[in-house]
Amino acid sequence: MSEFDLINQFFKNTKVNRDDVLLGIGDDCAMLSPPPGKTLAVSTDTLISGVHFPVTTSAEDIAYKALAVNLSDLAAMGATPAWVSLAISLPDSDTKWLDAFMHGFNELAEQFNVALVGGDTTHGALSITVNVTGFVDADTALRRSTAKVGDGIFVTGSIGDASIGLDIILNKINTHTNFTEEHKKFCVNRLNRPDAQVLAGQLLTEFSIAAIDVSDGLKADLNHICKASGVGAVVNLEKLPLSEALQNFYNHQPDWSNILSAGDDYELCFTCPKEQISEMQSLLVSNGIKTNCIGKIVSGIDVKCMLDGNLINIDKNGYNHF
Ligand code: ADP
Ligand code: MG
Repeated sequence: MSEFDLINQFFKNTKVNRDDVLLGIGDDCAMLSPPPGKTLAVSTDTLISGVHFPVTTSAEDIAYKALAVNLSDLAAMGATPAWVSLAISLPDSDTKWLDAFMHGFNELAEQFNVALVGGDTTHGALSITVNVTGFVDADTALRRSTAKVGDGIFVTGSIGDASIGLDIILNKINTHTNFTEEHKKFCVNRLNRPDAQVLAGQLLTEFSIAAIDVSDGLKADLNHICKASGVGAVVNLEKLPLSEALQNFYNHQPDWSNILSAGDDYELCFTCPKEQISEMQSLLVSNGIKTNCIGKIVSGIDVKCMLDGNLINIDKNGYNHF
């Protein structure tokens, strides 16, 4: 199959059609019409085989994750996803693989009504670059730089699951009876199919918060908020939200260092001023979103971790490519 046959067969006629796409796939550029008064939030992430996903990952899961991690960046700004482009480098024109890939991609694109408006198709080692655009109001977009001393620190969902999922796939864990097949499946699914917290991000634009999505490990990502805001943070480890699967995996003796430095959670970590906490929490809960307060913004320059009142030294850093 030629490059152009591939484009026509797999990328051109996806189901999401939006009125704001004046010209989609097929010309030199897409032409897109943003809503008046809105600001565009734009983000790109690349996934490379063997680096961002194990080489054994299915085509469907690779595509799902490639889009999900980009949507997670929009979520962390409180943006509403609209358009996506897809640059894909393929070792061969395997139509069965591409069919499965687009199945995973379209499943998530349809869920969030994001239109595939362009991209690039090349021959080479497997790599996927997704670029997403969403809409925000410039004055309520969630930045990293707006945390204030005294704010509570929150995280959605649970953390640490995906890293155990990765260890399971790489055969790096010892299994024991409490950690069931169900628990394993849960962790692997958290790795392969992250839930971009788009709704949470949108709801949080009503509050004076700072936010980031947790992709490289909670401690490293919270540290980005601290650096950008010129503050410090205290995290109370006993308050970290651990899934039932993770609690069973650790047999009630969590490896905090691993949990705090594990990547691929794609939850939102955010701060919230004291006086807005109860309103923020009830809005999120009424929308079915789980959040936990895990600590407090303090004056300082870095993230300190406490366990039952004692300072704990966590020296493991988050993921870093270089
Ligand atoms: P150009 O030569 O101008 O870069 P291409 O021949 O690469 O154009 O692509 C033709 C059209 O197909 C363009 O509209 C481009 O955006 C789109 N396209 C190419 N690859 C993809 C892809 N993987 N996903 C979505 N659209 C794609
Ligand atoms: Mg091209």
